Amino acid sequence: MGPPGSDSASADAVDSEGVFPEAAVSALRGSGLLGLTLPESVGGLGQGPEQFRDVISQIAGACGSTAMIYLMHISAAMPLAANRPQAYPHLLEGLANGKLLGTLAFSERGSRSHFWAPVSKCSQDADRVHLQVEKSWVTSAGYADVYVISTQSANAESPSDSDLYAVLGTDSGIKIAAPWVALGLRGNASSPVNVDTTVSQGARVGEVGSGFGTMMQVVLPCFNLGNASVTSAWHGRPWTPPCSTCPARGWSTLAPRLPTCRRSGTGSAEPAPCSQLRRHTSARPPGRSPSPMTAR
Ligand SMILES: Cc1cc2nc3c(=O)[nH]c(=O)nc-3n(C[C@H](O)[C@H](O)[C@H](O)COP(=O)(O)OP(=O)(O)OC[C@H]3O[C@@H](n4cnc5c(N)ncnc54)[C@H](O)[C@@H]3O)c2cc1C
Repeated sequence: MGPPGSDSASADAVDSEGVFPEAAVSALRGSGLLGLTLPESVGGLGQGPEQFRDVISQIAGACGSTAMIYLMHISAAMPLAANRPQAYPHLLEGLANGKLLGTLAFSERGSRSHFWAPVSKCSQDADRVHLQVEKSWVTSAGYADVYVISTQSANAESPSDSDLYAVLGTDSGIKIAAPWVALGLRGNASSPVNVDTTVSQGARVGEVGSGFGTMMQVVLPCFNLGNASVTSAWHGRPWTPPCSTCPARGWSTLAPRLPTCRRSGTGSAEPAPCSQLRRHTSARPPGRSPSPMTAR
């Protein structure tokens, strides 16, 4: 049996008709692969970047949309594993055993490609946090069981003072703002999503203000690796990393080391980061406001 979504007839239909590949996602849920990178202690397979690259390349070779959905699931599972939200003690088990499909809700109209710099800001009242955000793209919108949502902290002074929250797909405050109508990768429901909901502090992924560090250290390496793998496989070539040893060295070596992350205590003991990825994540397009990484 091939990888989930490997039936080329259904992959063609997913793309041409722009339908969410429910059969392929259901096969993924039952395969154990949703827990590929999660620790064995929660039922995951405990695998590293190299295995992630291989699995996502195989899925993308069969169905780009299914691979995109898988990429965003793994990219959401990683920060939840790094900082488990207290409000949901069994979230990781669900993400590992396929009961829960995750996704990221980072990009906003105001942040665009700089998805690590949200313009929305949460407000706080005692133990409750109000999230009111307009996300420009969210893969698996309406299908995901868990959304990892970024927003500026209530007392933020810059976009890098940010938090991540886990919000369940059953929350009535999650609304799909528009359909996903794309030229390609048409079957992954990457719609704009508006969120207007109140959650407990326990839904936060890590400490107040730790969002930027988690996005840079945990999410970005995984997202970039997976994204490169999806793109290459879709073009029929296996992806070769610019630094060929990195994917074999483990997740933590892929993370750029940042002053912000060290301050929040998440990066001080990291091994040497990959220089290729550091160069990439330090670059900023010309003509934009200073990158949050250089603004500090
Ligand atoms: C299929 C798909 C699924 C996605 N899923 C998710 C998801 O699940 N969660 C999520 O949070 N986001 C998701 N995204 C959004 C993605 O992470 C980016 O935020 C988004 O693609 C940026 O699009 P934009 O049109 O705003 O780009 P822009 O920021 O407008 O960039 C467009 C182009 O202009 C370039 N550019 C930007 N600024 C400058 C400048 N100042 N000078 C020169 N060039 C510049 C960029 O490099 C790019 O080539 C998804 C995107 C796609 C396509």
